[in-house]
Amino acid sequence: MTDAPHNPAATGPRSHPATLARATVAVTAGRPPRVQGAPVNPPVVLSSTYVSAGVAGPGEKLYTRMDTETWGPFEDAVAALEGASQPGVVFGSGMAAIASVLSMVPDGGKVVVPRHAYQVTLGFVDDMALRHRVTVVRVDVADSEATIAEFAGADLVWIESPTNPMLEVADLPVLIDAAHRAGALVAVDNTFATPLVQRPLEMGADIVVHSATKYLAGHSDVVLGITVTSSAHLNATIRAYRTLHGAIAGPWEVWLALRGLRTLSLRVERAQANAAELALRLSTHPAVEQVRHPSLPGDPGHEVASRIMDGYGAIIGLRPRGGAAAADAVVAALALWTPATSLGGVESTLERRRRFPTESVTVPEDLLRMSVGVEDVEDLWADLDQALNHGLDQL
Ligand SMILES: *Cc1c(COP(=O)(O)O)cnc(C)c1O
Repeated sequence: MTDAPHNPAATGPRSHPATLARATVAVTAGRPPRVQGAPVNPPVVLSSTYVSAGVAGPGEKLYTRMDTETWGPFEDAVAALEGASQPGVVFGSGMAAIASVLSMVPDGGKVVVPRHAYQVTLGFVDDMALRHRVTVVRVDVADSEATIAEFAGADLVWIESPTNPMLEVADLPVLIDAAHRAGALVAVDNTFATPLVQRPLEMGADIVVHSATKYLAGHSDVVLGITVTSSAHLNATIRAYRTLHGAIAGPWEVWLALRGLRTLSLRVERAQANAAELALRLSTHPAVEQVRHPSLPGDPGHEVASRIMDGYGAIIGLRPRGGAAAADAVVAALALWTPATSLGGVESTLERRRRFPTESVTVPEDLLRMSVGVEDVEDLWADLDQALNHGLDQL
């Protein structure tokens, strides 16, 4: 039976009805066509090569460094969530996706980056600069005027917002518009916000990248990245880069990421509600020096985040009283929260960022980056409260 009703969500971003809410899109996008006997989930195909037609024809499946049927459903689903008219391009890591975009800057070009951003992104552009490939200018993306002042002659404006790990919030529509007037391409790392909370393409950005390792996959079990754009030209350029450089994702990982994506809205809703509640309680805790979360009315990012985002995300910046040693003592005293790098999983994790010698020296020594998960908020609070009080006793 082949005349069953066509599943509007089955065939990718262009055919995805714009009227569906994103929570629905996360569940429905990237499904196989709804015909009797078909599986409801796309299969994992483990094959490096395909039976050829003898003579290579257009669209012929050849070899899975170029494309594989396991990538498409995830690429379509993330593109639909970001509101892109082209499918995404999945990579073997967030860094591979980021490298594909940075590689587009011409030799001798200029790149503007946030002074605080994912450490390895900054390391990547520094490495390009060291080899005289490009010049790099670092800006405070929360200061629109100072940021825009650096756009003259830029080829690429790279924005991360909220920034990792400082949680500065960029006024994306203002920065994107100014960057375009200066003739620059704009790419936004949307990992912290997710497309449920912030959609840079709708604000005019050319490219969005994600470390899908984090919220999109959401279970700390895969390393993956993806780029999304509505430009057919940029999409083709990034796809060609992936084939040339071979930074491809394994089919199992992409299948797991799509499975994780199905619950994205549930996870993000719960995690950011937990984060807002914890940030509020932390802001009056006697053992806390400073807490950063854009949900807090007094937070420097609150006004912009309230205007351009659909939420505040689930990452908190916490500086306990007593400096780096006290911060380490808090981490050690926690029982439920897991000390670990990375973020965006269902489980709550945290780390003191300056334990990495490569972290920016402008990140405070005592800053704990907390990735709030989906556990019960009272359990999370009880553990935090006892660990902070334990630290107070040591002061
Ligand atoms: C983790 C992270 C990356 C890098 O992604 P990988 O999947 O680890 O390669 C890039 N940007 C941000 C904001 C991240 O948190």
